[in-house]
Amino acid sequence: MERERLEQLAQEELQQAHDMLEVRVEERTRDLQQTNIQLSREIDERRRAEETLRQTQDELIHAAKMAVLGQMATGISHELNQPLAAIRTYADNARALLDHERPEDVRGNLHQISELTDRMAQISAQFKAFARKTKGQLVSVSLVAAIDHSLKILAPKVKEAKAIIRVPRDEDIYVTADSVQLEQVLINLIGNALHAVEPRKERRVTVEYTTVKDDVMITVHDTGPGIAVEALPKVFDPFFTTKEEGLGLGLGLSISHRIVTGMNGKLTADNHEHGGAIFTLTLPKADQ
Ligand code: ADP
Repeated sequence: MERERLEQLAQEELQQAHDMLEVRVEERTRDLQQTNIQLSREIDERRRAEETLRQTQDELIHAAKMAVLGQMATGISHELNQPLAAIRTYADNARALLDHERPEDVRGNLHQISELTDRMAQISAQFKAFARKTKGQLVSVSLVAAIDHSLKILAPKVKEAKAIIRVPRDEDIYVTADSVQLEQVLINLIGNALHAVEPRKERRVTVEYTTVKDDVMITVHDTGPGIAVEALPKVFDPFFTTKEEGLGLGLGLSISHRIVTGMNGKLTADNHEHGGAIFTLTLPKADQ
């Protein structure tokens, strides 16, 4: 009898322990569910914040690009006005030639007019491509094409600065980059170099590239005054500028730095041992 009672007691205690455990497990599960919900919410928020940040950065990169185009507006309109004036002259002449019944010469003038409009279309296509928004997709990009394209866009500025651009030709190298963003960085570096050499007697900008292991190193070196030692650590800071008011916002290099980091590359500034500033852009090498 005694044994039965003891067994009963043990059974009851066991049941109680079991019940308590179940309550605990339930509580713990509820807690975990709560934590889980909280975590998902936080992950969502973080994702949204990252998306906003990415969008803001894209907008910033785009705004900087627009600023470059704005600064070049005079040069661009000059570049377009020249063929425009030539077209007008050819058209006026063609009319006079018609009066003198010289149809062959008229044909020649019309041909010139067609060619000039082609040239204008090319110029405007370049700037349109550059102004386009880009998603920043990393693909294999021809460095020679990127440099050539940047120099075409900078042509009015090169003329204005009366500078000589040297690009010692080597075989083409391919880098992993976004082509429009790479051009944006090159235009910024070469544009700054042109500004630096403009007041100098010797006005030369040299763009060189070479492969170093799995990377490609691109240097932009100028014959300007170089960068003051105290300014060197600050050139990539936003709003750091030594240019006169209205000529610079001090955003070009900071945005270029951001773009290059986004392309898994590096951008550094230094003074060349023979004078002038030298910027080094390193990007991962790509297959053709
Ligand atoms: P901004 O061109 O509007 O000044 P950047 O960010 O492109 O802005 O450049 C910041 C500063 O870095 C310039 O104002 C100048 O002091 C310095 N800098 C950039 N490139 C050169 C260069 N090639 N030679 C000398 N100084 C330079």
